[in-house]
Amino acid sequence: MAWTDDALPDYLAELGVPGIVDAHSHFMPKPVMDKVWAYFESGGEKVGREWPITYRFSEDERVATLQKLGVTRFTSLCYAHRPDMAAWLTQWALDFAQHHPQAIPSGTFFPEPGVREYTAAAIESGVRVFKLHLQVVDIDPRDERLTPVWGLLCDTGIPVVVHCGSGPVAGRFTGFEPMAAVVRDFPDLPLIVAHMGMPEVAEYVGLAETYDRVRLDTTMVDTKYLPQDHHLDRAVLPRVRELALDGRVLFGSDFPNIPYQYAEQVEALARWDLGDDCMRAVLFENGEALFGA
Ligand SMILES: [Zn+2]
Repeated sequence: MAWTDDALPDYLAELGVPGIVDAHSHFMPKPVMDKVWAYFESGGEKVGREWPITYRFSEDERVATLQKLGVTRFTSLCYAHRPDMAAWLTQWALDFAQHHPQAIPSGTFFPEPGVREYTAAAIESGVRVFKLHLQVVDIDPRDERLTPVWGLLCDTGIPVVVHCGSGPVAGRFTGFEPMAAVVRDFPDLPLIVAHMGMPEVAEYVGLAETYDRVRLDTTMVDTKYLPQDHHLDRAVLPRVRELALDGRVLFGSDFPNIPYQYAEQVEALARWDLGDDCMRAVLFENGEALFGA
């Protein structure tokens, strides 16, 4: 029987956590969100299949939904797909976080002139996490215009969520090597590998084992909606448990842009059967340690 959203608060209470910290959720300016939804629902080429949005609600309703589910903190990840957009998106996300204290101030950047300056300004203004999407945006993380930004993130410890794996559809700069090359150059980079790097999960688990500041987010991993070849190789689970207990696996959902109920993501993790201590770490403790006040 599938878990439902209604049952989630009781599950969290039983597990003994105050709620969920969601490291990978999306809030964006309405015109941007509307475009993203239209793209998903048309099953665009970078989506790979039909993708109905379960939580296609107004912004207020989406915030209220997370609260009802027991989510105590969440990111509002945006990404720019062209120049001259990132600073504006970041400002929007900062304003959003001002109005919603549960929102973790989020930002983004783009390989363009001035990127170091506006990223430094964003950190000054309180941004606690950035987002970069190598697939949808088609950027190379080794682009030399990003070099000073990687250095800045190393120095400040502010993490960046990067969609760098080649799922669901590969891009020119996705896969393991482009992002791994950046981490080798910047061994202190606080990287959060979105979707655990699907389908290159084993490689990215290895990267996290080598570099202490590399983390993985669970977004969409092992949900039933994914094609079979994207499912996790069970052999990697003991290593995932070790990383989770070391603070390096974070819960992420992709809310609201998911074609299933939020609880499905929690159920997918519970199916790994890694123990309640591991579930507490992933659902709450690791995210709270990283993003908590
Ligand atoms: Zn996402």
